[in-house]
Amino acid sequence: MTAEEIRVRGTVQGVGFRPTVYRLAQACGLLGDVCNDGEGVVIRVSGTDASIEEFIRRLQQECPPLARINEIKRKCYEGEVSFDDFVISHSFSSVVKTEISPDAATCVQCKEEIFDPYSRFYRYPFNNCTHCGPRLSIIRAIPYDRCNTSMASFNLCAECTKEYNDVENRRFHAQPVACHICGPKATLERSDRKPITASMFSMLDDVDAVCTLLQRGEIVAIKGIGGIHLACDATNETAVQKLRQRKQRYHKPFALMARDIEIIENYCTVSDKERELLESSAAPIVLLKQKRLKEDKETQRHPDAGIFSSPRHRVSSSPRLLPIAPSVAPGQNTLGFMLPYTPLHHLILKRMNRPIVLTSGNISDEPQCINNEEAREKLGKIADYFLLHNREIVNRVDDSVVRVVGEQIQMIRRARGYAPAPINLPPGFNNIPHILAMGGELKNTFCLLRDGQAILSQHLGDLENAAAFTAYQDTLSLYLNLFEHKPEAIALDKHPEYLSSKLGKELAAANQIQLYSIQHHHAHIAACMAENGIPLDSPPVLGIALDGLGYGEDNTLWGGEFLLADYRHFQRLAKFKPVPMIGGEKAIKQPWRNTYAQLTSAFSWEDLKNQYGELEIIKFLENKPLNLLNQVVSKSINSPLTSSVGRLFDAVAAAIGICREECSYEGQAAIEMEALVDANTLNNHEETLNYSFNIGILDNIYCIDSHPMWQTLLNDLQQQMPLSVIAAKFHKGLAQTIVEMVNIICKQNVIKNVVLTGGVYQNSILLEQVRENLQKLGLNILTHSIIPCNDGGLSLGQAVITAAQYYL
Ligand SMILES: [Zn+2]
Ligand SMILES: [Zn+2]
Repeated sequence: MTAEEIRVRGTVQGVGFRPTVYRLAQACGLLGDVCNDGEGVVIRVSGTDASIEEFIRRLQQECPPLARINEIKRKCYEGEVSFDDFVISHSFSSVVKTEISPDAATCVQCKEEIFDPYSRFYRYPFNNCTHCGPRLSIIRAIPYDRCNTSMASFNLCAECTKEYNDVENRRFHAQPVACHICGPKATLERSDRKPITASMFSMLDDVDAVCTLLQRGEIVAIKGIGGIHLACDATNETAVQKLRQRKQRYHKPFALMARDIEIIENYCTVSDKERELLESSAAPIVLLKQKRLKEDKETQRHPDAGIFSSPRHRVSSSPRLLPIAPSVAPGQNTLGFMLPYTPLHHLILKRMNRPIVLTSGNISDEPQCINNEEAREKLGKIADYFLLHNREIVNRVDDSVVRVVGEQIQMIRRARGYAPAPINLPPGFNNIPHILAMGGELKNTFCLLRDGQAILSQHLGDLENAAAFTAYQDTLSLYLNLFEHKPEAIALDKHPEYLSSKLGKELAAANQIQLYSIQHHHAHIAACMAENGIPLDSPPVLGIALDGLGYGEDNTLWGGEFLLADYRHFQRLAKFKPVPMIGGEKAIKQPWRNTYAQLTSAFSWEDLKNQYGELEIIKFLENKPLNLLNQVVSKSINSPLTSSVGRLFDAVAAAIGICREECSYEGQAAIEMEALVDANTLNNHEETLNYSFNIGILDNIYCIDSHPMWQTLLNDLQQQMPLSVIAAKFHKGLAQTIVEMVNIICKQNVIKNVVLTGGVYQNSILLEQVRENLQKLGLNILTHSIIPCNDGGLSLGQAVITAAQYYL
C-alpha cells in the first residue's frame, strides 16, 4: 500500500470534476479524499501502486466534458495515512480563485432525457446538468451558488434536491438544475397581445407550437440562453424578406440554425474540423462554404444513389430539398450555421426538416434584447409571436462566430461558449498586478489581467451605439466584482475619441489608478504574440497589421503597417501609402470616396478622364461634387490621411462596382469582393498575372504605393475582364507585395516570427495567400485562433503591453 498526493491544475472547478474523482476512486478501490483549493483540485489517495496508476489513467480519459486538465503533479503523501473511505472534503480555507465557466451547449444525456417520454425531464426546455447549461448568462455575484444566479427564485423540488445532493449523480452541485415542477417555464404569446387558443395548432406545447408557426412563415422572437433571437423559416423567401424589412437590416447575412449536421450538409460542405466546432460545447456559428445547389440535384439523380445504396440516401430521396432563401446571405459564398445549443432549441427544431434563421433580436445597431418587457416593446413590430421564459438573462452573451481557414480555427466573434474562460499568458507574465484594458471602439471587448491569466469579456459590440456603451459599463463593473479585480493600472487605445478611452480616463482619475495609452496596431500584434505563447523577453517579431483604422504615432490613421515589435517597444518599418479619407467617417460608409482618393493620389483627374473616361466608375465619380471634395482635401478639412488596407479594399471593391455608393454593414465591400474571387485565377501560379505595387521610401520608411495596381486594374476594366478575375488578381497581387516587403525587411533584420493581425485578415483568401508564401521563406507565421484578429482582440494586447512595459 502507498499513499500519494495528486494535484490537478486547469479548468477543474464547477465542472463536475470532484464527483468524477470520487467515482473513479471508488471504482479503483482507493481510499482518501478530494477537495478544491486556490490552485485547482487536490486528491489524496491510498491503495496499491497498480490501482493508483489505473486511477490516474482513467482520470485523464474520463475527464468530464467541460473540464480541462493542464497539469497533474504527483508526490508521496507525507501525512499520516488513516483513510477509511473516499470522501469529497470541504474546500480548504485558502482563497479560492474564482472561475466562471462559459455557457455550455446541452450535453448528450440531457438531450436524450428531453426526448424520452419516460424521463421526468421529457420535453423540459431548461434541462441541464454539471456538463451543460447556462453559466455566465445567469450569474450575478460570487461565489457561483444558485442564490447568486437568476435561478435563485426557483426553489428546488424534492426530486431535484435529491439529484443535486447525490455525489454519484450528473446533477451533483449543478447550480441551474431544474425540472417541470420547480424550474423556469416557456410561454408563447402573440405580439398583438391577443390570447392564443390551443385550437390554433395541433401541438404538444408552447415550444412545439413555435415549429408550426415557423413552418407557416411567421416571425417568432425566441428567448434563449444569452439573448432574444428573431427566427423564421430560412427557406421561405417571403418570410426572410419580411424579417429584413421589419428589422431594417437589408444586407448583413443572417445566421442559421439546423436540427442536425445532415441538414447543414445539404447546403454546405462540412470538414471534420468544422463538424467538431459545430458539435462542441461552445456550439458557435460556423461560417461554412455553400454548396452549389445545382451540384446537389445532380448528386440526387446520380445512378449510384439508388434507394438501396445507403441509408442516408434513402432518407434524402423522400423530401425535396428546399434551397436557402436568397435574402438570407446576399452576396456571400458562405453560410453561418449553428446547431441547437439549449433544450429549448432542440425542442423547437425536432419536427423541422429545414434550417431556420436565428438572428439577434434588436433594432438597428443596438445590443440584442435580453428581458421580456424590453423585447415586447422593441420587437413587437418585428415579431408576430414571442416565445419567452421566466429565467432572467443577467449577462447578454451573443452567439460566437468562427470559421476554419486552411486547417486553422479563426475566431471572428468570441462570446457564448468561450467567454469568460481564462487565457493563459506566456512565460514571464506570472507576477503581474491587476491590469484592466478598455479595448477599442468597434467590436469591443475589455480584458482583466491577473496571476498569469487574461480574462477577456464577451463581445460587447460597437460602443458608438448608446445602448451598447451602457451595456459595456454594466458588464465591466460586473466583471470587476465577479473576478474580485482591483486594477492597479488601466490601459487604453491612443485614440482620444474612443468612448472606451474616455471611460478609462474617468475611472483612472476617480480611483487614482495609473493610466497608459497603447498604440492600436502594437496592441494587435502583442495580442497575437500572447495568444501564441511568445515568452516575455523574446526577440522582436515582424508584425503585419492590416485593418480598418487605428490611431497612429504620427497622428494620422494607420491600418497597413509593418512593425518590428516586442511586448515593450515597436518600430514602424513600412506602411501603405497614406491617402486622404475624404469626409472622415463618411469614407467608411461610402466606399467610392476611397476610390476617388486612391485614384487621384495616383493620377491627375484630367488623365483619368482622357484615358478611362468611358469606364463606369469614372462616370460615377464625375457625378459627385468633385470640386468640393478637392477643396476639402486641399484644406485638410475632415480628411485625415490613412494607410489603411481596409480602405484600400473598399476602394477596389467600389471601382469594380461592389457597394459603390454605400455599405450597409462594416466590411461589406471587402466581404462581397472576397466572395466574388475567381477560383481558377486564384489557383494559377503565373505570378505575372497578379497586380503589382511599387515599394519605395516615404518619410524614411518603406512605402507600398498602389499606383501600378490601379493602372492595370483600370486597363483590365477597359478590356472588360470578368470582375471575378480582377478581384482574384487584386487579392493575389496584394499578398505577393506583402511577401516582397517582408523579404526586403528580412535582409536587414533578423526575423523568425511573423505576426499577421488586424481585421483585414478575416479575408481568408488574403490570409492563406500571405501565410503560405511567407512559410515558403522559412518564416514562422503566427495568426489568431482563440481571440479575434479584429478589434475584439485589442484589449488583450493593451493589457500585456502595459504589464511588460511598466511592471516587468
Ligand atoms: Zn447535461
Ligand atoms: Zn425539480
